[in-house]
Amino acid sequence: MLVNAHTHLDQCWAAPFRPKTPIPFHNWLLRQTRRDQKILETESGEAKVIAGIQTGIEQLLAAGTTHVGDVTRTGLSIEPIINSRLSGVVYIDILGLEPSVGDFLLNRAIQLIDQYRPQINHNLQIGLSLNALYNTSFKTVEKIVAFCEKEAVPLCVHAAESLAENEALEQGTGHLADLPGRLGSDLRPDVSEKSAVATLNDLGVLSLNPLLIHMNHASKDDLDIVKQTGSVIVHCPRASAVLKNGPALLRRMLMKEIPVTLGTESLAVVETLDVRDEAAFAKELHAGMVFAGAIDEMLTGA
Ligand SMILES: [Zn+2]
Repeated sequence: MLVNAHTHLDQCWAAPFRPKTPIPFHNWLLRQTRRDQKILETESGEAKVIAGIQTGIEQLLAAGTTHVGDVTRTGLSIEPIINSRLSGVVYIDILGLEPSVGDFLLNRAIQLIDQYRPQINHNLQIGLSLNALYNTSFKTVEKIVAFCEKEAVPLCVHAAESLAENEALEQGTGHLADLPGRLGSDLRPDVSEKSAVATLNDLGVLSLNPLLIHMNHASKDDLDIVKQTGSVIVHCPRASAVLKNGPALLRRMLMKEIPVTLGTESLAVVETLDVRDEAAFAKELHAGMVFAGAIDEMLTGA
């Protein structure tokens, strides 16, 4: 068993745009958001995205991956993953500061779940991804929670990835609060005056035990909440280094006996989808603080 708990296969097509040197997260996000919007507007865009997904699946299988946690904005990775030998969860991504956009994406995700339900089995599930709190209205978050609870659908969320995420939620300021404006919108993230993790708890998200992706800037109090509510954290150290978001305090997570697994993120950020490369990077990054054996165990989801 080899687990890559976090990928975005429908961004594999953007591998040529991968930053060659570290870049601030908000700048990368701005560029990738524009690229994602443009690609599907072109005539051959969808075929290009699907070809990228196939390449990504080939990379995963070549690395010996057996289980994947893929986040798909387009929904296009669902069928190729079903047709591959991979197990795991495909999470359909939802975001939108405008509640009507969130409603649209949630309804589309529910349709996709219904459409593929006959083809899935206990080895492969379809879930929802709450992309992040800085780009999704709290109204939409509440609807996602209600649906996942009612239908027992797995959920994941990018959480405490950057300092700017906490700043946007706590104060409504900073690079991520300003990002919609740079994309031509006059919307701003909802403000809770609390950290991302505390806000996820208040909104009922953590009661669903979602997969928590990144958690680079989770405080001691945040990790106490996670310990109490129970979630698995996905550590993606290479992407966090490229996007200047890390490093996560892995030792602190493990000391609290919070389960941690590894994920590669996207080929639009990192060079390979081989989670063993992620483990090798993590061993160097946390040398002297975390036993290498503990990181090896993360590869199997043990
Ligand atoms: Zn991600």
